[in-house]
Amino acid sequence: MSNAITSGKVWLVGAGPGDPDLLTLRAARLIMRARLIVHDGLVDPAILALARPDAVLVSVAKRRSRHTMPQDEINALLVREALAGKEVVRLKGGDPFIFGRGGEEAEACHAAGVPVEVVPGISAAIGAAAAAQMPLTQRRSASIVSFVAGQCKGLSEQNWSGLTGQGRTLVIYMGLATAEAIADKLIADGLAPDMPVAVVENATRPQMRVLRAPLAGLPDLVSRHKVKSPAVIVIGEVAAEPEIQTLRALALEAAQ
Ligand code: SAH
Repeated sequence: MSNAITSGKVWLVGAGPGDPDLLTLRAARLIMRARLIVHDGLVDPAILALARPDAVLVSVAKRRSRHTMPQDEINALLVREALAGKEVVRLKGGDPFIFGRGGEEAEACHAAGVPVEVVPGISAAIGAAAAAQMPLTQRRSASIVSFVAGQCKGLSEQNWSGLTGQGRTLVIYMGLATAEAIADKLIADGLAPDMPVAVVENATRPQMRVLRAPLAGLPDLVSRHKVKSPAVIVIGEVAAEPEIQTLRALALEAAQ
């Protein structure tokens, strides 16, 4: 990384899933010395608290179907500030290139001749897996893991068959509002209704919850426990409680 902040540049910085201790050192350094931070709603207040007292913090908070700032305006803001000679830290939840629109922002900067640097962050799936002690791959039960967006186009236009089932773990981002459609779609694709599911809400934050159900019970689980965003949905054998995983593995072996 070019450690010295020169004039006119955009850093696309991953803030991780919430816990400030999960920032990379590079992200923490950039946040602590930035004069201008443009951040998403998902960035934890404890992370924003690391900024200098005189830093300007601009929120471009995005919520499902309530966009406070459209993406092209965010792109234009980053480009405008950088072309005016500012050093812009564009802070995003998780990793900038996983469902973070970091790609679009980088493209807009490249098109305008603005230098960009990308600082990776711990994506929600990775943070949730660690915090819930739920390995996404397991030698005996999962050797493929996929990340999908459960919202809008991700759900209606993508073919998910083959992403779930024996040996596979599926992690769904932004899937709470569509939990029922997700369960229906996967069961219609042939996934067993009793496939284990875990919902990890507020992963790595003090108020984290890990809730479990069989796939068919996912919509009820989400509504009964009033699960709120942000949450990831993990589907696959790895999502079962560890003791149950052992029992299920034995039952599968016996059936073969
Ligand atoms: N770039 C981000 C994802 C942005 S999309 C990343 O790499 O993590 C927003 C979605 O991320 C949320 O709807 C939720 O599904 C997931 N998410 C983000 N932070 C989370 C957290 N602390 N716990 C659980 N899910 C989270």
